[in-house]
Amino acid sequence: MERVDVVVIGAGIVGLATARALIETEPARSVVLLEKEAGPGRHQSGHNSGVIHSGIYYKPGSAKATLVREGRAELLTFCAEHAIRVDHCGKVIVAVDDNELPRLATLEARAAANGIAAVRIGPAELREREPHARGVAALVVPSAAIVSYPAVCDALRRELERAGVFVRTGFAVDAIDEQGDTITVSDSRTGDRVTARSLVNCAGLHSDRIARLAGTDTGGVQIMPFRGEYYELIEDRRYLCRSLIYPVPDPAFPFLGVHLTRMIDGSIHAGPNAVPALAREGYRRRDIDLGDVRELLGSARSYKLAKKYWRTGAGEIHRSLRKRAFVRALQALCPDIEPGDLTPSHAGVRAQAIDASGNLLDDFAFASTPRSVHVVNAPSPAATASLAIGRTVAARMPAFA
Ligand SMILES: Cc1cc2nc3c(=O)[nH]c(=O)nc-3n(C[C@H](O)[C@H](O)[C@H](O)COP(=O)(O)OP(=O)(O)OC[C@H]3O[C@@H](n4cnc5c(N)ncnc54)[C@H](O)[C@@H]3O)c2cc1C
Repeated sequence: MERVDVVVIGAGIVGLATARALIETEPARSVVLLEKEAGPGRHQSGHNSGVIHSGIYYKPGSAKATLVREGRAELLTFCAEHAIRVDHCGKVIVAVDDNELPRLATLEARAAANGIAAVRIGPAELREREPHARGVAALVVPSAAIVSYPAVCDALRRELERAGVFVRTGFAVDAIDEQGDTITVSDSRTGDRVTARSLVNCAGLHSDRIARLAGTDTGGVQIMPFRGEYYELIEDRRYLCRSLIYPVPDPAFPFLGVHLTRMIDGSIHAGPNAVPALAREGYRRRDIDLGDVRELLGSARSYKLAKKYWRTGAGEIHRSLRKRAFVRALQALCPDIEPGDLTPSHAGVRAQAIDASGNLLDDFAFASTPRSVHVVNAPSPAATASLAIGRTVAARMPAFA
């Protein structure tokens, strides 16, 4: 059995960034990073839109606003240091009709409050920038960029291993035992165990379960998995989108609204929608995990959430089941897109925390005990903010003599 100073559970981008910050702040610390899959970044960090967000949407002073601003700058430096290609393509947020102008104005004010450049343009300038997008006005956000997050995860892993951090894959933590000044985590399938003086939970879609195994009260928060499905533009029609074309977000659901995203490999992805997933790692509609379904059905939060947001949810499910409805939503932004231009592409599953009253937690959230820190909610844009989230977690870690 190994003994280390800190055990980090989950080698997504947040766990990798946290391990990095832990040894940066305390180089003598011994750290082991445990991952149940065969390699890092196999879940949210490897199934996302690949956008380095600028952070204009978030409430000034919130953890998201601060950590995205800081994390974005750190990520750009990290990418430059590791020769990871970043395309500074910028983004346009398009108001498709006059009804959306007040929300566009609110967003413009928020960008200013967050210190982020955003330039308002009219239909003619929009057409110059994105010839196939249509709208009555748009905000151009030059600082939005794109990257391959799997490439970032690989570089983080290499850096950690060079610094002596053991990234142990194929270790699915299913028991945590805290006795006196040690915490033992184990994988009952293999009988493997690691003993540490402290623990960090970066388990993404399973973070609430890891918190429960550790006996940590996170205020009754539960993770609800939302699958996001993408289509991809066929190669001949990639010219329809030059950079990132986004709708004006609904303030109640900033993560909703299908958009067009240029990926770093040149492909153009459309989506995602957001439908409740019947398995926490269910990337296909037919993926059902009976344990996950039982947990959702047995939780009063799910019913409270469904009661509050059924109308929005029904729209998302409709767009998931009917390609025409999905295409119609895209045509509002880009009328030239035809159903035949789109082929089904990858899907991702978001770990969205909901509280005991069935409210979606919007901001990043953390919980601490004397010997552990839990990343309770790290939804989008946590990939952008990951290096800053890692520093925040490291700063919360107990200092041992
Ligand atoms: C569809 C979609 C689009 C998105 N687009 C963007 C974007 O463009 N830009 C952006 O900044 N953010 C985006 N995000 C958000 C971003 O991808 C996530 O916020 C971020 O990747 C979260 O990282 P994580 O490390 O917390 O989680 P994950 O990447 O999910 O990592 C958690 C890890 O913990 C491991 N684990 C879980 N349980 C255990 C266990 N018991 N034992 C051992 N290991 C365990 C998992 O296997 C996994 O590797 C998007 C997310 C989705 C789903």
